[in-house]
Amino acid sequence: MDWYLFFPFLLLGTIFGSFLNVIIYRLPRSESIAIPRSYCPNCRQPIPIYRNIPIFSFLVQRGKCADCSAKISWQYPLVELINGIIWGWSFSVNDPASAIYLAALGSILLAIAWIDYQHLIIPLSLNIGALLIVVFAIAFKLIYWRVALWGMLAGIGIPAVIVGMIYISSGKIGMGLGDIQLGLILGLWLGPIGIVMTLLLASMLTIIIWGILHFKTGWDKNRPLPFAPYLIISSFIVYISSYYQSDFIRGLLLN
Ligand SMILES: [Zn+2]
Repeated sequence: MDWYLFFPFLLLGTIFGSFLNVIIYRLPRSESIAIPRSYCPNCRQPIPIYRNIPIFSFLVQRGKCADCSAKISWQYPLVELINGIIWGWSFSVNDPASAIYLAALGSILLAIAWIDYQHLIIPLSLNIGALLIVVFAIAFKLIYWRVALWGMLAGIGIPAVIVGMIYISSGKIGMGLGDIQLGLILGLWLGPIGIVMTLLLASMLTIIIWGILHFKTGWDKNRPLPFAPYLIISSFIVYISSYYQSDFIRGLLLN
């Protein structure tokens, strides 16, 4: 890990994370991403650039809008920080070409996870963006196409079988089309073994969170639960941990 690369890209990543916050807020509300400039969701006052410094501004203003003192969600600095770490990690442990695709993919997946968590939808435009990045990585041989192909089949096939079994047994559609699309994208990225591990981990996380929610707020078998956040957290864990395994396991996972 090259620390002299980690911190500059962490910083750049938090700045881009600030733009991700705009996407996360506006895309599900069908607002334009480019216009107007950043504004406070409460008083609609535009935020000047010197008060829009990632994480820093939030801390200095103690999490309040400088105009109307409305509370600013802790989610803003958190998205900036997570994106900063994604970018810092991508550029400090990978060659530049891989780093570019990993940072871009990581950012889009972060936005997908956050939007699904808040609105239970995955915007098609973000799935298409993520797919294009993975296809670009395959075209430039950053991902081996044969592995990607098997991964894609597993990434659509396994969730489709699960959805089918849930439908036969309960008459309900247990997963959205957006989740299946995401399975396809993550399968292309992670390969067959990586995507199977990701699906297993995501299912375990979902069951644990499901159990905790029922325990805290009572039983509701129709409670909708987003799946994308768990899928994406799991894919990050599987992908990053594969770097710190022996070459043999790493080869098994990603090639
Ligand atoms: Zn305000």
